[in-house]
Amino acid sequence: MVPHAARAERPLTADAPPPISILDLDAAEAWCTAHGLQPMHLRAVYRSVFRDGVGLDPSALSRAGVPARVAAELCARFVACGSRVVESRESAGGGRKLLVELGSGARVETVLIRHERASTGRARHTVCVSSQAGCSRRCSFCATGTMGLQAQLSAAEIVEQVWLARELIAADDAVGAEAAPLRNVVFMGMGEPLDNLDAVLRALRALSHMNLFALSPRQLTVSTVGASADAIRRLASGAPAVRLALSLHAASQPLRAELLPSAAECSLDELARALDDHARASGCGAMLEYLLIAGVNDRREDAVALAAFCHARREASGIDGAGAFVNLIPYNPTAPGALRGFATPADEAVRAFHAQLRAAGVNALVRWTSAAGRDTDGACGQLALGTPAPSVRRARVRMALGGDDDGRALGAGARRSEAWRMEGVKLATVVAELQAALGWAALADATGVRCFEPVARPTVKSALKFLRASEHRWARERVEALWLQRKLAAEAARGQAE
Ligand code: SF4
Repeated sequence: MVPHAARAERPLTADAPPPISILDLDAAEAWCTAHGLQPMHLRAVYRSVFRDGVGLDPSALSRAGVPARVAAELCARFVACGSRVVESRESAGGGRKLLVELGSGARVETVLIRHERASTGRARHTVCVSSQAGCSRRCSFCATGTMGLQAQLSAAEIVEQVWLARELIAADDAVGAEAAPLRNVVFMGMGEPLDNLDAVLRALRALSHMNLFALSPRQLTVSTVGASADAIRRLASGAPAVRLALSLHAASQPLRAELLPSAAECSLDELARALDDHARASGCGAMLEYLLIAGVNDRREDAVALAAFCHARREASGIDGAGAFVNLIPYNPTAPGALRGFATPADEAVRAFHAQLRAAGVNALVRWTSAAGRDTDGACGQLALGTPAPSVRRARVRMALGGDDDGRALGAGARRSEAWRMEGVKLATVVAELQAALGWAALADATGVRCFEPVARPTVKSALKFLRASEHRWARERVEALWLQRKLAAEAARGQAE
């Protein structure tokens, strides 16, 4: 079930200000103070919305002790949630990627991840929220970066993603699925949180506030690519107990700058000093996120540099364990990464890198679960609203046909499959489209696939049955290639017309 939050459908007149989300804690507090309400009244409002689930209802609020006149005014000024889920895609790994439309009309993706503890068998949820629509940082492996920055989210828009995820979890509970409470919120969705720090700090306050989500700051993690040492220090002073995750990805400045263009704005030394300051202010070190890309940053010398970086952080901060915890994330395929020839390392290479770090005394874990959302493009680095910009689509098609921007041949069937999957197209659609455009005979000629021959009286259903058989992967690839060739020709024709 996709929850549709109580979104304001109120007629707006020219002078009526737009409704405010009640999840904007600062705005709600300011409004209550201006209208002579006490903190206990706002507590009653949140109890009504959160615990009793009655939303913003004037009679419920006045029963809860809010003066009747003000209750009506408050319900007219605020909405319970200005965003809604417009699509929910389940991944085979148990996660869900939500396409969320904000009150402003901008769209972002939020990922709901279900974990089961091996020790207890108990399940819990983590919500990965977006802090921006798109992102300006353009990290080399990240699909979100290809969108550019489209909008900064307000604090309420960030918090509303958690609210919507909570509604989904509650809906699961209602249909008898095993209850799995919301345990963690991570700012690892779309956007660089420190590029929208004021809103992020306000959202963190709302998420940990007793009247709202009451999450402990240690259940909240802000992830940054580390483009600004000042912003890391501001986060440390504004929300010291919140966990910090740094996307390091390389422990040498040249390689880091290659992977993360924004590394040019903050050298590794400067970043290291900011991390040490953060560790001293927060009393615990940052988690270091390290995306492992085959042959790029998973070599022995990369592990040596990473171990040295971790040890230096522990010594500089004077806190045992600071900077020594590393999350290793096998690269999740993305279009920009594929254009650079990035590939996921083999499991043995990941294990070897991990073992080398452990042997060097670094506390590290491989996040195999980070791949859980790959089938919905919901894994780390893959969030891009499903419908990429035309330039990205064209790049994908070029790549799929076996050439990159320099015309070098790439030519792997696996890469074609990857591009096709990233386009989000279904096999049934492709077959039906090709059949309608060419007919079975031409399709059989063009691909050499026998199941399309008119003599066998094919139907889309019988063709799909044949193509889906694992031993007929070669046939699928030929169909993909033909479909992509036609798509490229159409894209090129459209490009010329423009
Ligand atoms: S990895 Fe993060 S900072 Fe880099 S482009 Fe993607 S969303 Fe932006």
